[in-house]
Amino acid sequence: MLGFAKGMAYTFKQLTKKKVTHMYPDQEMVWPERFRGIQHFAPEKCIVCNQCARICPTNCINLIGKKSEDPNKKGKVIDTYDINFEICILCDLCTEVCPTEAIVMTTNFELASYSRDELFKNLEWLDDNNTNVRGGDA
Ligand code: SF4
Ligand code: SF4
Repeated sequence: MLGFAKGMAYTFKQLTKKKVTHMYPDQEMVWPERFRGIQHFAPEKCIVCNQCARICPTNCINLIGKKSEDPNKKGKVIDTYDINFEICILCDLCTEVCPTEAIVMTTNFELASYSRDELFKNLEWLDDNNTNVRGGDA
C-alpha cells in the first residue's frame, strides 16, 4: 500500500512539471548553433579542389569537374556533385575544409525515405537545400 501511495505521489508530481517531450513535427525544432544537418552545396562557389571528397571518412562524396566554358574564368567548374546519405555521418569535415564555403551545413535533417536510392542527393538537390543554412543565408 505504501508503495502504491509513493508511486501515485511521484506520478502527480510529474504531472505538474514542465513537459520535456516535443510535439514534432507540429512544433518547430530549435537546434543548437553547431547542429550538423544536411549540407547545402553552392556550385558557383566550388573550385573543384577535391578537398571535401578527400577528407570524407566514409567516401560518400563524388564529384566531377570540367573545363570552364567562360574564357574569362580559369580552372575547372563543377559538373556533378553527389553525396550518398546512406553512409554520410554528418561529421562536418567536408564543410570545415572547403576553402570557398561551397559546401556548408544546414539544420535540415529530414531524409527518411522508403527507398535507399533516394538517399543519393545530386548537385541540384543539394543546391536547392538552401534553407536553414548554419551561420547565415546561403
Ligand atoms: S559530413 Fe562527413 S561523412 Fe558526410 S559528406 Fe561530409 S565529410 Fe563525408
Ligand atoms: S572543398 Fe569546396 S571548393 Fe573544393 S571541391 Fe569540395 S565543395 Fe568544391
